[in-house]
Amino acid sequence: MKPLLIRGGRVVDPAQGIDKIADLLLQDGLVRGIHQRIDPPDDAEVIDASGSTVCPGFVDLHCHLREPGYEDKETIATGTRAAARGGFTTVCAMPNTNPVVDSPALVEFVLRKASDEGSVRVLSIGCVTKGSNGEELAEMGELAQAGVVGFSDDGNPVVDSNIMRQALSYSSAQGLPVINHCEVPELFQGGSMHEGWISNRLGIQGIPASAEEIMVSRDIALAELTGGRLHVAHISTAGTLELVRQAKDKGLAVTCEVTPHHLTLSDATVMGVRDGGSPFDPLTSSAYDTHAKVSPPLRGLADVAALVQGLRDGVIDLIATDHAPHNRVDKLCTIDEAAFGISVLETALGSVMSLVHSGEIALPWLIDRMTAAPARFLGRSDLGTLREGAAADVTIFDPDAEWTVDADGFASRGKNTPLDGMTLKGRVVATIFGGEVVFSASP
Ligand SMILES: [Zn+2]
Repeated sequence: MKPLLIRGGRVVDPAQGIDKIADLLLQDGLVRGIHQRIDPPDDAEVIDASGSTVCPGFVDLHCHLREPGYEDKETIATGTRAAARGGFTTVCAMPNTNPVVDSPALVEFVLRKASDEGSVRVLSIGCVTKGSNGEELAEMGELAQAGVVGFSDDGNPVVDSNIMRQALSYSSAQGLPVINHCEVPELFQGGSMHEGWISNRLGIQGIPASAEEIMVSRDIALAELTGGRLHVAHISTAGTLELVRQAKDKGLAVTCEVTPHHLTLSDATVMGVRDGGSPFDPLTSSAYDTHAKVSPPLRGLADVAALVQGLRDGVIDLIATDHAPHNRVDKLCTIDEAAFGISVLETALGSVMSLVHSGEIALPWLIDRMTAAPARFLGRSDLGTLREGAAADVTIFDPDAEWTVDADGFASRGKNTPLDGMTLKGRVVATIFGGEVVFSASP
């Protein structure tokens, strides 16, 4: 492997408080240094990064790679290629595959497959319960030994409060978080979008904000009871944000994540309203967009604004994609029949960069929430930073490049995005994983 010199970019490494124009040298799979000017070693490959931002490779705590069992939606190979295209060098795979990842053998399958066929690093999340059916705890100790980085029944909430209590108790013994998809089934069943005036207007059964908030509230109480480490997946409402804020004020081991879509899209997207449009306009043929059906649902504008505020003030610990690829058939149907989920990895940066361009979030802070913060969450000092000796995982992006989303061109098998055809500003130029270029926008 040749040394790689990345020359003249704006190097942003929040873990070290670095934000300056500099050269970055990668050698033998590790970061060698950041300096004003580095003379390239004799055999080095030089990448000109002037005008671009150079930062640690993004770390995604929450994605669905679908393998084994749902290879029609995604595979570890296609999902990690999508990750590389999106600037992600580490992704954590959720266990709701078929079979689910509730045993060491399945963890080993995912990790081996990833090292054989993956473009980037894959970490495995194990189930909370056997079969992910919420009835009996999985062998959490064995899963931890096999290398999982957390426990989740994502796709399903952990409904039984006593099971959740036990999960938080046992996982704290492993020093690992329980990542819960918080939604009370009695309130979300049958719903396809956020409950509000737009769901009323469209005649679609809604999912109230309280469906999420009730379970978040319960889980925080259980985290306090057990001392366990709770991570609330993909928060979507202003109420949830307040609950997490209060839990943190109390000093509980509670963290949370937010997705790019919950930060940038509202329930008006289900109406087919796009940039510049208004929910008061007449309905167009884009209304009832199944690609905007996601769990938890896209919420109202006040929720979106609250989440952006929560990201800015640090109550929200990190950005995670909840990349949820589906095949065509899963979305070419009525909104009631459609599967929940958005294919996110390849649009994540372009989406969240809108918050930087609007002045709502500072670029270094955004990068922190996608690199240093998730790496810290995982307890990995070798990831999410460009410190000397860290893994040579680097993302180079042009913050000002405009591009049009073309879902058909995704590396992901999931072409399911409500952003298809939209223009985003901020594009990955190259992704380097372990010192090797795994994606380059230029031929
Ligand atoms: Zn979920």
